[in-house]
Amino acid sequence: MAEAETILTNSTTRPRAPELSAESLYEKCLALASNLWWSWQPDVINLFRDLDPIRWRQLDHNPIALLKEFTPERLEVRASELVLHSRINYAYRRLKEYLSETPMWGFKHSGVLGSRPVAYFSLEFGIHESVPIYSGGLGVLSGDHVKSASELGVPLVAVGLFYDQGYFKQRLDINGWQLEEYLDIKVENLPVEPAVDSAGRPVIVAIDTRSGRLLAKVWRMQVGRVSIYLLNSDVEGNSPEDRELTRRLYGGDQRTRIRQELIAGVGGVRALRALGINPGVYHLNEGHSAFATLEAIRQRMQEDGLTFEDALRQVAQQTVFTTHTPVPAGHDRFDGGLIEEHLGPLREGLRIKPDQLMGLGRVEPTNPNEPFCMTVLGLKLSRRANAVSALHRRTTQKMWANVWSWRAEEEIPIGHITNGVHIPTWLAWQMQLLYDRHFPPDWRNRMGEPEVWQTIHQVDPGELWETHYSLKSQLLSFVRRRVSRECRRRGESEEAIEAARTMLDPNVLTIGFGRRFATYKRADLILRDLDRLAALVNDPQRPIQLVFAGKAHPADEPGKRLIQRVANLRHDPRFAGKVAFVEDYDINVCRHMIQGVDVWLNNPRRPEEASGTSGQKAVLNGVLNLSILDGWWAEAYDGVNGFAIGRGLAHVNPDITDARDAEALYEVLEKEVVPLYYDRDLDGLPHGWIKRMKNSISSLAWRFSAHRMVADYVIHAYLPAAGGLSCDMNVR
Ligand SMILES: *Cc1c(COP(=O)(O)O)cnc(C)c1O
Repeated sequence: MAEAETILTNSTTRPRAPELSAESLYEKCLALASNLWWSWQPDVINLFRDLDPIRWRQLDHNPIALLKEFTPERLEVRASELVLHSRINYAYRRLKEYLSETPMWGFKHSGVLGSRPVAYFSLEFGIHESVPIYSGGLGVLSGDHVKSASELGVPLVAVGLFYDQGYFKQRLDINGWQLEEYLDIKVENLPVEPAVDSAGRPVIVAIDTRSGRLLAKVWRMQVGRVSIYLLNSDVEGNSPEDRELTRRLYGGDQRTRIRQELIAGVGGVRALRALGINPGVYHLNEGHSAFATLEAIRQRMQEDGLTFEDALRQVAQQTVFTTHTPVPAGHDRFDGGLIEEHLGPLREGLRIKPDQLMGLGRVEPTNPNEPFCMTVLGLKLSRRANAVSALHRRTTQKMWANVWSWRAEEEIPIGHITNGVHIPTWLAWQMQLLYDRHFPPDWRNRMGEPEVWQTIHQVDPGELWETHYSLKSQLLSFVRRRVSRECRRRGESEEAIEAARTMLDPNVLTIGFGRRFATYKRADLILRDLDRLAALVNDPQRPIQLVFAGKAHPADEPGKRLIQRVANLRHDPRFAGKVAFVEDYDINVCRHMIQGVDVWLNNPRRPEEASGTSGQKAVLNGVLNLSILDGWWAEAYDGVNGFAIGRGLAHVNPDITDARDAEALYEVLEKEVVPLYYDRDLDGLPHGWIKRMKNSISSLAWRFSAHRMVADYVIHAYLPAAGGLSCDMNVR
């Protein structure tokens, strides 16, 4: 982050976020852009876009970058032309009010958290597409958690890493092969500030290892009422290699990885201390940050004179651990050498032997051949551990049963809190307007109440269908624009570019598939019998069309081959113009897709999808889920609120499972999905389908919301952890 340092010493080049007492229009716009609260306010988003719609799109919807292209004078002129003054003033006043009020829910329920907040650790945060420090579902979940904590008024601070490049941008070459492009993040274009201590000094933390001292600088990003503290190793005093440690998300080898996790976990706890924040609860979102517990124990021993055992017991009581990975190979593991190199000095502070430390990360503490697993550390050093759906809980209990070898499987102390999504972030603006017209006037403050969502049944079917159709048209324009741009970039023929400009038909049943191209998610399941798929796509009366998007991890060759196979379908005349692949899946692409398709397809190999959240986003917009009974869908599907693929069974042989699931997918498409979609009344509306859209919204929107999720964490995990109230170890 060479740039960051220059900016710091030469602060005139960076527009500073003014205090909330701004006078000029320009200052007010900057204040709005400097708090990511704007990212879920449609009126503020529209305001920024209206300033310059073309640049807004080109700049990845980044308002700070946009404002930097204006002088205060030009902004005044532009605002006058568009009569924006009152909209800017109103938005600014709303932000000020938001930041000064205490939301009722938090006031009533947060109890002891008020003086000692929750510290939420995660290695990625997906708040908005313009802040690329996330890769996929885990990051978006953290982002949604933070947003809901802000809205509910739950006292929470978040801790993570600030990446200089973040995750890669995806391009496909002419052969459909994924290329990864890493762009330097311009820190002066992001809503981050150096975090400062009570004396106003920038906070830099130090971590001693056997191979030298690591430094990290702390940045602060504001999301509504919640601060996210992000650590970055590109600081003077670090070796050139160490300055690059926090360059990329999920880049580098095991040694880079453990050093990143050391910075996030140990560095994170030290950063909070330096900032004067004394957490009542540590919430580890995935095992990556579990080293935090070791530093918390060390602080306890040093400051309160506790023994290691007593300090461990107290920290475990305060720690909540959420695990997300149902596959054994997906968990971070480090060998003894790496652990001693990086944790040796801290271990001495804990006054324990190397074997004892290794034992904390092993299922069998004394097995010298077992590496150190971050998930095991998380499980052992937390009194409350949870999975992210009911089915995932069972899978997780089975997977880690040996950590509690003396217990029966049902007694393994791992509970579950099912994931949810932040409604204002994922609900299309047009749908919000529809809900505004029909729902109780205070529905935005009552999104957790089932009764509110029942109102959808009173909405006129034609009105709901029209709103959906308009969102679908927007998606198709977006896909055409992106795909034709991608063709041009690859230097394809004028005909190919023109064909992309007119591909897809808004009257055709449109199926979307957007997610990481990890092999277990089986993006190619629907391609298993290409003739059968071609028959569905080319049915003269009742055709379907498909939109795909997703990245493969840079090291995942099989995942990249899946992308290639899907992307190259466009060269098959049976699928040309009817199957699209959109490059560079991110929050923006996801938002378009889950708001605009008719059906959201999800076909992981059960039970490998811990929860999945994209289908929950689709629900809000009246998009129907078509999914394997895995993750959240296993507890959400009721027979009339979407579609199920198969009956929730898996064979021990994955090839047989895949063949059966593909058969089940074609069956449900041919017999249920397609007929229901094209069953039109005289008014041209698919009443059966619309009924199902309503069933989906009314039965699922409130249950799978991040507000419900965060409230569950507060009541079942945070409060017991902070207050030491007696509570069952099982979260639920
Ligand atoms: C919501 C979201 C995901 C999660 O997708 P699932 O496959 O449902 O887990 C991944 N990536 C992005 C960009 C998202 O917005």
